[in-house]
Amino acid sequence: MLLGLVFSGCKHTNKTNANSTAVNNTASTEDTTGVKQVKNTSAQIYAKHQIPVLCYHRIEDGKKGDYTVSTSTFSAHMKILADSGYHSISPAQLYDYLVFNKTLPEKPVLISFDDSRVEHATIAAPVMEKNGLRGAFFIMTITYNKKNYMTREQIAGLAKAGHTVGLHSWDHTMVTKYKEASDWQKEVAEPKKKLETIVGKAVEYWAYPNGVFDHKGAEELSKYFKLSFSLSTKRDSIVPLQTVRRIIVPECTPQALLKSMRRSFK
Ligand SMILES: [Zn+2]
Repeated sequence: MLLGLVFSGCKHTNKTNANSTAVNNTASTEDTTGVKQVKNTSAQIYAKHQIPVLCYHRIEDGKKGDYTVSTSTFSAHMKILADSGYHSISPAQLYDYLVFNKTLPEKPVLISFDDSRVEHATIAAPVMEKNGLRGAFFIMTITYNKKNYMTREQIAGLAKAGHTVGLHSWDHTMVTKYKEASDWQKEVAEPKKKLETIVGKAVEYWAYPNGVFDHKGAEELSKYFKLSFSLSTKRDSIVPLQTVRRIIVPECTPQALLKSMRRSFK
């Protein structure tokens, strides 16, 4: 139930979309550090170079599938990123880059995790920290304290260690299924508030369940989040901030990971 469309990161080839018809919504506002800035328009954001965003789900030995990597593969992936001079960036840094043209560190990559699995806290975070990397963890709030999923304390611990905690809905229902105001309340507004009390800070980033979105849903999410992340789907040129592309990382060699990143985000 927690898994969706199969998009294989290391095999995926990206299609680009050139017909940007973005609205001009230039406005002065604040960046994530509270400084007043002039915002890029949707067209300007859409035209910017896309930063690689990776998405992991399960990190587990002895399990096969596009949504699982072994613990040794995960460690090898983090090591090659660090050894190759990649710098992990936060969603806040990505937002400031897209909206305010803030400079990113050299070779930036955003490393994200969906579905609140317990090994994100017990395996992924420690391995990343050992390599000087930080990630973004998207939580389904229905999973608090359930077997194989993170506890509230583990989620709070991620935020404390410098990782970003974002929302992945209440129960993994896709955004395209939210019809009534009560659906938005149940899947977005309430779990966002709950997660904020757990991490002690604003939850400003969203990952779409199954990576699935439509234009209307993406527009609606902009009322709640600075950025929303899809999977390999083409971005929406009108709301590029709410349709940021990621690639799912499957079991593959560290070299294949680097190749896939370069190919998908060139
Ligand atoms: Zn998911």
